Amino acid sequence: MDGTFNENDISRVVEADRAHIWHHLFQHKPLETNDPRIIVEGKGMRVWDQKGKEHLDAVSGGVWTVNVGYGRESICKAVYNQLMKMNYFAQSAGSIPGSIFAEMLIDKMPGMSRVYYTNSGSEANEKAFKMVRQIAHKRYGGKKYKILYRDRDYHGGTLAAMSAGGQDERNVQYGPFAPGFVRVPHCMEYRKHELGLENLSGEDFGIAAANLIEEVILREDPDTVGALCLEPVTAGGGVIEAPEGYWPRVQEICRKYDILLHIDEVVCGVGRTGTEWFGYQHYGVEPDFVTMAKGVASGYAAIACMVTTERVFDMFKDDASDPLNYFRDISTFGGCTAGPAAAIENMRIIEDENLLQNCTDMGARLDANLRELMGKHKVIGDVRGKGLFQGAELVADRDTKEPVDEKLGQAVVADCMAQGVIIGVTNRSVPGKNNTLCFSPALIATADDIDRITEAVDGALGRVFG
Ligand code: PLP
Repeated sequence: MDGTFNENDISRVVEADRAHIWHHLFQHKPLETNDPRIIVEGKGMRVWDQKGKEHLDAVSGGVWTVNVGYGRESICKAVYNQLMKMNYFAQSAGSIPGSIFAEMLIDKMPGMSRVYYTNSGSEANEKAFKMVRQIAHKRYGGKKYKILYRDRDYHGGTLAAMSAGGQDERNVQYGPFAPGFVRVPHCMEYRKHELGLENLSGEDFGIAAANLIEEVILREDPDTVGALCLEPVTAGGGVIEAPEGYWPRVQEICRKYDILLHIDEVVCGVGRTGTEWFGYQHYGVEPDFVTMAKGVASGYAAIACMVTTERVFDMFKDDASDPLNYFRDISTFGGCTAGPAAAIENMRIIEDENLLQNCTDMGARLDANLRELMGKHKVIGDVRGKGLFQGAELVADRDTKEPVDEKLGQAVVADCMAQGVIIGVTNRSVPGKNNTLCFSPALIATADDIDRITEAVDGALGRVFG
């Protein structure tokens, strides 16, 4: 092969993929006999593969990303115009779209004030971790360096982000991990028996679950704990919203022990949970760091942001006697202007098309449809989520809540795929078990799209579980 084949020569594309591409999160052995799937085109909620087959995408590009849907001309034009004018300069200098988007963003995040641009969710999280470590050195003689993370939460694939990873199956065989990351329990009401809190419910359970974090802080010594990093609604760990009472107590605990609160909005941010721009805003939380990536520009350009407060910012500039009085970090592609140019237009679309409201309305419809399926298929043990971010947990037995074999969850996904509907299945924090079907259609989804998704799931559950 000379490497200069035409993009319309699909058989050569497939051949080159099979010969040279290392797909993400993917077992390659089956590709020795099967064709890889190449997504050739997208429009709205739909994508087409190399065989011309149409799919309704119920997972926004596979991983909660394409929030405003495919084929958005205005975003492409904004990016084109910006790149022709000025494509890149390191973020030690500013850029026009960088400033504009930062102001738009901060306007939607009362209490926050500074935006640090970077490339990926993992990297945005690492920037916050690094700041916590530097603050520990600057203010606490290096002592307050520990970062707490939660069972079932995920913060990225780089090694420090994995050190803060609460999904064990992702971490197996990749250790040793970075020191100074400490796990706290989750707050999943459906599996509260795993926390020993089966006798509590509602707000009492929420407060008790948050108190489990305090127990870890006291065990570790509060003077050594610098930050607590949490997803507002846990994504890959099973689509889990915290119970009533949880967040106010978490905030109280952080304040009591002078612990910075880091909210990872990589999945939830920019409208995914409906009504509010960010997941944490549903719960009245006042974070010190907010990280975001996927939906910021809906995948039209790579962009991630680490957003913090003026209080944190000041810690890195107000001590003139310290020669290390600044955040000594750079992210080369944090200076690409395509990201903020796309993000500006992405945010305008969400506003102009009232997509936060659509997300709430269609999320309610998806939730209701899934609950109806729960009445019909006893394999669905729980339905949960927020906005267009919903999960249906599959259990072999509703009483014991024993998860179904991961292959069965994957069989449901495959059956939906054969019907032309792409859904996902998330991980459980035990090696080898996948058991929560995951739905995160674009915020533009219509009632017909939602019904088609749940019809496909209905058919698939019937065939896989009888
Ligand atoms: N944080 C959360 C909650 C995520 O779900 C992910 C990725 O799925 C990340 C961080 C990492 O983002 P990225 O893959 O852009 O590094």
